[in-house]
Formats: sequence, structure tokens, C-alpha cells
Amino acid sequence: RGQELSLEKLSQALCLCSDVDEQLKQLVSLFQFSENERKLRELLVTLLQEVFFEFFPGCEVLPFGSSVNSFEVHGCDLDLFLDLEHTKTFQASARKPQEEKSEDKAAMDTLSEDKAALDTLSEDSILSDVDLESASASEILELIAAVLRQCVPGVHGVQALTSARLPVVKFQHKESLLQGDISINNRLAFCNTRLLQLYAEVDDRVRPLVYTLRYWAKQKELAGNPFGGGPLLNNYALTLLVLFFLQTRSPPVLPAVAQLKELADEGEKAIIDGWDCSFPKDSSKMEPSCNLENLRSLLAEFFHVFTDYDFASTVISLREGQAFPLKDILASETSSMLKLGALNIQDPFELSHNVAGNVNEKIALRFQSRCRDAAKYCRSLQYQRKSSKGKTWGLVRLFQRGDNTEISITEEGPAAGDGLVIYLPSPLLVLTEEQRRKLCGTEGVQQLCFQKVCTALRFVLQDVLKCSVSQDEDNENMANAEQAVLREEVPCVGAKRILAEEDSSVPDSKRPRLEAVSTREEKVSWHCTICHKVWLGRRKMRRELQRNAAPSLLQDVDSLQVEAEVTEAIRQQEHGSGPAQPLLMFRVCIVSAGAASQDCRTSLCFTPFQDPVALFQDFFHFLQVFLPKTVMKHIKKHGLNSSV
Ligand code: ATP
Ligand code: MG
Repeated sequence: RGQELSLEKLSQALCLCSDVDEQLKQLVSLFQFSENERKLRELLVTLLQEVFFEFFPGCEVLPFGSSVNSFEVHGCDLDLFLDLEHTKTFQASARKPQEEKSEDKAAMDTLSEDKAALDTLSEDSILSDVDLESASASEILELIAAVLRQCVPGVHGVQALTSARLPVVKFQHKESLLQGDISINNRLAFCNTRLLQLYAEVDDRVRPLVYTLRYWAKQKELAGNPFGGGPLLNNYALTLLVLFFLQTRSPPVLPAVAQLKELADEGEKAIIDGWDCSFPKDSSKMEPSCNLENLRSLLAEFFHVFTDYDFASTVISLREGQAFPLKDILASETSSMLKLGALNIQDPFELSHNVAGNVNEKIALRFQSRCRDAAKYCRSLQYQRKSSKGKTWGLVRLFQRGDNTEISITEEGPAAGDGLVIYLPSPLLVLTEEQRRKLCGTEGVQQLCFQKVCTALRFVLQDVLKCSVSQDEDNENMANAEQAVLREEVPCVGAKRILAEEDSSVPDSKRPRLEAVSTREEKVSWHCTICHKVWLGRRKMRRELQRNAAPSLLQDVDSLQVEAEVTEAIRQQEHGSGPAQPLLMFRVCIVSAGAASQDCRTSLCFTPFQDPVALFQDFFHFLQVFLPKTVMKHIKKHGLNSSV
């Protein structure tokens, strides 16, 4: 990315514009590819397509991501999807006995190109040693890396990252220094790239806004980490947030993805990995928006809207073009698989995927704080009008690092250190709107919620997942705090009283309620040992148990009880009745949101301290989805006001 424009050069160019709208458009011109850059990428894709076709007949090299989604910047990486579906079919067919092959031949003959490809599958083909259908992703990526190293001229630094969250082969094109990533199981990303392209075509305000907000977020250290790593927003998640903002203007600038689906023809309907990805290819089918807001005010509104946005308690859905409260999401089968976090943006197609699942609370708070600063600046004349005295104005000041109104974020929370963090939703979500309103802000509500979360969490870890849990002896204070929690010594008088009075007819105004609300941070730490890989094969085991159960038993079965049975069955399968050895030991530190937040959320920080066979990451990924759901189910079942 050596060709980045300096802020100084950018500022000079922007200050020459005549108004803020022109500055936003100018930003696109300054960052987008030149004709030559686009040509170079196309040539590289063609070269790779030709080489790979030799080795993987029928394959397709499909660019996705910023090179083609309309939001490119000079020097951005080249994301490629190597589609091997046809190659697999050819290989399977070439390996079939001769007589079966002739039956398939009629179908194959329809595509002469395919026939030619089939012919190349000779004895010495690379595919004679590898069966693509049964080979692992790592094996295929290693093969791709070998082809790149040995057969593509002008490429170096080839590296197969097979254990990354999205396994890829990385390479660099020597002459242009262009960085490339090749992945193989990424059809959904190819599809969401086309969706972004379509939105950019539908309304010409989309590109200037996305470019501006991407650059602003990068300057403010809110976005920019590469796919998968770190707690910052990635460019894809940030772009979706901007699109969501445009879907929710009144009237909307952009339609929801569900509305796009209605416009898709038969040929445009697509299901990928089980997700409905139907939308029209052509933007001309879509009515222009009746929203007439200009770029200057849309940008200011973006900052204004997200300044006080309740990110943690909502899920942003581009599919529906609205944000849903967490409790609605937890009730829905697919969406309840979402890994909830400090910022929840549901992928428009893969509805169980939170594209901002990596963002931690610190960054989410920083995002809001930077939005607040920006919204304030956008109300000033310096933003709105070109300076007649040659001073910086408009976007330029917005992009400066370390603004005047910088608010420092001191809440390090449990994310500091090496642990991995899961945020649990507020237990208040199990209440009705009315109950919640009454309870919020009462004395002791946080302690009550914390205590309920600890009880539920202990139940899930100990009784459902059969993990042994004990107090962490390293921390006297924490241990005492836990004792207090377990014996219900923590004062939570106000909250309990309100709950007890819930159905009484005492008018609101007469109820005793304390003005000063305790926001003391609650914290305990547990030491846990797990002896079985209870996270592996749960779905299959659950299906088997349900298949074998008598229909009468299936009614009213408590899902937590089912989960406990699944664990037991896995234990039996792994060890029979023999003694089990500890597999993994970890510490979990449970911290209430404390003074930082009034919504009673809790964060769990997991740190492994004995992990001889490197299982912690896997276990943690499982817990990310499993814990929020099951803990909430336990709280819902036992209610917030019942005794522990
Ligand atoms: P840039 O490379 O300039 O940061 P990009 O859009 O190419 O922008 P990448 O991180 O390279 O971003 O990701 C490439 C593509 O992979 C994205 O455009 C998107 O299609 C897909 N993608 C990236 N991150 C996610 C995610 N968190 N969830 C789902 N798909 C993602
Ligand atoms: Mg990219």
C-alpha cells in the first residue's frame, strides 16, 4: 500500500473544492483506481486464470472485495476466489468407470469448453494425485501455493495460511507490489461483493459517503485491520453500517436486502451454503430514491445517529433494513446463532454471522465518542462553509487526528491482557418493556443481574457442559465477592423490591426509589477444568438423541436439559465409564459492565493456563455462540425475581 495519499496532499486538494458535497466526491476521485491500475489487475486475473485452468480444468478465478466492489483505494489488496466446483465435477467424471461415463456424456457434450477441459485431465495432471472432493482445504491451498510458486511468472512471497480464520494463499506481484489473497470456500463473499456493487450503482451518494467514512474511521483508529484480526472494524463491516444508515433514512436512500430479493428474476435467484442470496444483477430495475438529502447533511446525520446508538442491545439487520432488539433475535432460530458482541451487524446473507463480532467494547465506545466529536464539528460553520481566509474547512478538519474534543476511553475492562472476551446480554432483556423501564436505574439492579448471570453461568459450565468450576484462589477479593454472590449477600434491595411490587397496585410515584444508583463494578474469577471435548459433534449427537427419544418425551423438554444430555452422551462416547484426564484448564473472569454502562451487561474474559493440546481457541469459539444463548435461557426459565 505504498501508494497512499498523504493527509497533507489530500487536505490541499479538498480545500480547493467549493463546498462539502464537492469534497466528498473529490475524495472518491482521489482514491479510486486509475484506468491503468484497473487494467493491471485485470491482466493479473487473466494470467492466473490461464495458469490455474491448466492445473484445475474448469476452474474460475473470480475477484471479489475492494478491487471490484466499487470502494477500491490505490494499492488495496486483490481478493480472489478460486472456484473449483466444475473441476470437482470433471474430476469425479474422469475417475468413473468407462460405461458410467458414457451415460453422463450427453450432459457433458453440451459444453464444448468443458469437453476440452476434460481432455486436459491426463495421467500426469496434478489432479491425478489429489481428490478434490475428499481433500482438506489445507491440502488444496498448499497445491495452489505450489502452482503459484512454480508456474506463475512475476509472483513471489507465496504463503499458504491454512490455519487463519479464512484460510488463504497470500502472494505478491513483484513489479506492482500488489498483494493478493486466494481463497477457495468463499462464494458468499463473492456474492456480498456484488451486493455492495449494486448498492453503489443504485444511488450515487453511496460511494462518496462510504469513502469518506472509511477514511475518517481509519484516521480515528476505528477501522482498518485486515480480515479477521484485531478488535477494529473491518472495511466490510463499516461499509454495511453506512448502507444500513442509508436504508433507515426517511424516506430511505437504499432498499432493504429483502426488498431486493423481490425484484430478482428466476435466473437471479440463488441459495449459497443454505442462505438466500437472491437479488437483481441490474440496478436499472430499481426505482430511484425519493430522498433528496445532500451529502453534507447525510454525513452529519450519520455521526448524529450513531452518537447515542444502543449498539450492544440491538442487532443491525441489512436484510430487513432495521435494527432489532436482542431479545427478538434470541427468539429466532437462525439469528440466535449470532455471536453477540459490543457491535452487532448481521451479514445481509449469512444471517448467523455478526460481521462486527471481533469489535470489543472499547472500540465500540471509541466509535461513539468519535461520532459525538464529529457530529459536534458538523454543526459548526467551519464544516459547512469554505473558509474565505484560506483556513482548513469541511472534511479536512474531520480527518485530523487527535481532535480538540478527544474523549479518552479509560475503561480497559477485561479485554486488557491476553484473555478472550465474550459479552453476555443484559438479563433485563427477559423482562417486558414495562418491567424493564421500572427496574432500570434502581438501586441494586446491577448486583441482582450480576448475581443471576453468575448463577446461570455456573449452571451452564458445571451442569450443562460438565466442566468443574471452583473459585480462583489467586484472588482473595474476587473469591470473597463470589462468596457474597453465592450467598446473596450483595445488596440488591431496591431492585428486588420493585420486582416484588411488580403486580401491586401502588402507583409509580409513591414507590420508594433511591435517587443515587449504585454502579459499582462487580467482579469474580473462577478456575475451570474440562475433561471432554464437549464442543465437538454436538449437533449430530443432539439429532441422534432426539431421534431415539419417544415422541411423548420430546414435548416440553427443557432445551438446557437436552444440552446436558448431549454433553453426557459425548462423555460416554469419548471415555465410556473410565476416568477422564483434564484436557484444558482456564480461568474465567466475570465482570459487570459497572459504571461504564447502565444496561447490566456482563463480560467474561477467558484465559487458558493449561492447554497442552491447543484446544482453547476451538472451545472459546464454541462458547461464543453457546454461552449467550444458554445463559439467557436459564435466566428466562428461573426469572429475574426468583431466589437463586
Ligand atoms: P480492503 O481490502 O480495502 O480493506 P475489502 O472490502 O476488500 O477492503 P477485505 O478485508 O479484503 O476487505 O475482505 C474482502 C471481502 O471479504 C469483503 O469485501 C467481503 O466480501 C468479505 N469479508 C470481509 N470481511 C468479512 C466479514 N467480517 N464477514 C463476511 N465477509 C467478509
Ligand atoms: Mg480486500
